This record gives sequence, structure tokens and C-alpha cells, in this order.
Amino acid sequence: MQKLIIEARINEYQGRAENPKVPFLPAEIAADAAACRAAGAAVVHFHCRQADGQPEHSHAAYAETIRLIRAGSDLLTHPTLGYVAHEAGPQERLATVMRLAADPATRPDLAPMDMGTVNIDSYDPLARRFVSKGRIYRNDTATLEYFATQLVANGIKPYQSLWNISFMRQAYAFMDMSLVPEPAYHLFLLSGDSLLAGHPGSAAGLAAFTGLLPDRPRAQWTVCNFNGDLLPLAESIIRQGGHISIGLGDHPYAEYGRPSNAELVARVRALAERLGRPAATPAEARGMLGMR
Ligand code: ZN
Repeated sequence: MQKLIIEARINEYQGRAENPKVPFLPAEIAADAAACRAAGAAVVHFHCRQADGQPEHSHAAYAETIRLIRAGSDLLTHPTLGYVAHEAGPQERLATVMRLAADPATRPDLAPMDMGTVNIDSYDPLARRFVSKGRIYRNDTATLEYFATQLVANGIKPYQSLWNISFMRQAYAFMDMSLVPEPAYHLFLLSGDSLLAGHPGSAAGLAAFTGLLPDRPRAQWTVCNFNGDLLPLAESIIRQGGHISIGLGDHPYAEYGRPSNAELVARVRALAERLGRPAATPAEARGMLGMR
């Protein structure tokens, strides 16, 4: 079976209350990324943050972070597009990534496209109430066509996040339209009980995706569990030929003794080696994903 691509999802917008090892500043992100590479990761997904953890959206911060990551490792870089800009138009939402792409030293290797629109209100399952009630993550088809066209034209691999089966259908339509080259790279987004927009982080939630995979593979697929523990599903994902996207950005893993991102990666790598799937290097991952 093919090697395993491990992606470290190192910070998102998680705080440090439950695990203080979440990196914020560019130098912290780069140091964490290098440790993840040494532990077996091939891809790093990151969000720039300010010293107090607030989101940082400047081009300068993203450029500095990518330069620092590349100074310390050969990891494939996968920055976010910028979370607060959801209501902006497609050009504005992609502006930072396009500016990064203009310089080969800062051009991201991958960039995300969430292939549909969902409610992202946070739910409190203990209090049985929604904490917010009006948050929509809007990704209309025209926006996604713009993203795909621009990313491919600039040599950036689209990283298609699939929150549910309707997103998966849209992703295959984009392949049928030749807007996204094959093999595509798909993230099956599972989510915990405070974010109901993803499939549940369970075997059944994963099976709903894998049960619809075509007989002839057209995409590589990876799995995360946003606001949930991915480790109980890792063996099943690895045995089925999928890849693993894990990190403190998704879940603090406090129940495992507050590990670092690199310790989580090492844990996945050890499991995968036992199952006969050594970790792919960044160069090997690039080949498996059909990247230049
Ligand atoms: Zn992210």
C-alpha cells in the first residue's frame, strides 16, 4: 500500500488553555513545523496568529512564516485563506495567497477550497444550546470556480475540504469540468459535538464518505476531526488507504497528556509503520498528489 501523508494541522484558532503547546507567532510556527517534519509530517497547515493568539491576516506575516518554515524544513506549506474574510468577495478572499504566489520563495504548495456552504454556529451539547445563531460559511460555486482557476494557474495544489457528501459531489463535478486536476486532494472533515457541520467523528461518519468513493481512484484523501479526537479512527483510515491530518489546531489532546504537534505526528507515524505504511516525505507526497 502507498505511503502515508501526515499533515500537521498545528494551530487553527485554538487557544492555549487546554494545551499550551499551540504555536502562534511565525517563529513558533516554523519551529513547530520543523519538529513535525522530523517526526514524520509531509505537510503543515497553519494560521498566522498574533502574540496574544488573535488572528493575524497580513501578507507580511504569512510571507515571513513560509520563509521561516522553508528555512527549517522541506515541508509542503498549506496556509489558510483567512478566516474572517468569509463575507468578502472571491478576489479579496484569495488576495493574500495570490500575493504570496507572486514570489516563488513564498508561494504556498497547497491552498484550501471548502467545496460548499454550511452553518458554522457553535453548539454547547451540555447546555443544549447554540452559542451563536447566524454564522454561515459561504462558498458559492462562482467563488469556488475562481479559486480553482487561480490556484491551478499559479501552480498551487487545491486542497479540497469536504464537510459532507454534498461537498464531495461538488468536488467531483470540479474534476469532471477539469477545473481541478486529478489526482485531486480531498480532506474528509469530521467534527466533534460543538460543530455540527461536518460528519460525526466516528466510523460511521467516515464510512459515509468512503462508501461513495469511485471504483477508479481520482483523488487522494485525508481525514481530520475538527474539535474532536482523530486517534481512535487512525488505524481504520490507514488500513483503508487514506491519509492523516491531525494536530492541536483541531483538538488539544489533553486526554493524552497534552502532547505537542510533533508528538501527535510521531504517534501516527509509529502506528502507520506497524500497519505497513511508512510516512511519505514531502517529496514523495508531492509525487503522490501529482504536484509539479
Ligand atoms: Zn485551517
